[in-house]
Amino acid sequence: MNKRKINIAIDGHSSAGKSTMAQALAKELNFNYVDTGAMYRAATLFCIKERLVETNEIDTRKIEAAIERMFISFKYNDKSERLEVHLGGKNMEQEIRSMDVAKKVSLVAAIPAIRHKLVDLQQRMAQQGGVVMDGRDIGTIVMPEAEVKFFITADAEVRAKRRFAELQKTNPETRYQDVLNNILQRDKIDSSRAVGPLRQAKDAIVLDNSQLTEEEQFQFLLINARKAMEQA
Ligand code: C5P
Repeated sequence: MNKRKINIAIDGHSSAGKSTMAQALAKELNFNYVDTGAMYRAATLFCIKERLVETNEIDTRKIEAAIERMFISFKYNDKSERLEVHLGGKNMEQEIRSMDVAKKVSLVAAIPAIRHKLVDLQQRMAQQGGVVMDGRDIGTIVMPEAEVKFFITADAEVRAKRRFAELQKTNPETRYQDVLNNILQRDKIDSSRAVGPLRQAKDAIVLDNSQLTEEEQFQFLLINARKAMEQA
């Protein structure tokens, strides 16, 4: 009989490189990668399109009423070799990475009704096992039973420099200070919200990658994931 595959939770601060590592790990283990940040970003894009979120103000009641019309899903893309997020059936992988979405996402992600809907979807995706899922509350709320949990962090300035370099490739007008401020702001809102705050699970393996190369981080995750697979 085939053994059920384990689940792997990866949480941590904004722009700590979680998704790059989670993707590489999923590919190596032949697991599905689920980017929950992309789901909150898609929910934010939905709110922007529906004019439910202005600069720093959100109308929680209107958002709750509109939630039934918000349809977020994933489809596998053969080219990128990963699940990509769709809103209302349309691929939104590009649109959700804008600074506008980044500025509003933590506000939208703090709304309990939004979290309720997305956590439910995430738990269904993890039901069969074989998932590497990254986010903020994966090891604590979404998959508290995950066989292996990582908590990834790095100095805020290191994270901002990495993110700035990435954003500049598509938008040369990006300013470093804006990126750093956005990261600090998201960390603060994500850590202090009432529902599903960013927390390190008690049994998480902590990785501070400020001084590590991508390959070193990848090997660290892989060794620990393999150990958990042997024990499962
Ligand atoms: O992972 P990423 O930085 O793309 O996530 C974008 C935002 O979505 C985070 O800053 C956070 O506000 C929210 N988020 C969340 N819970 C998760 C994943 C992301 O609140 N599980």
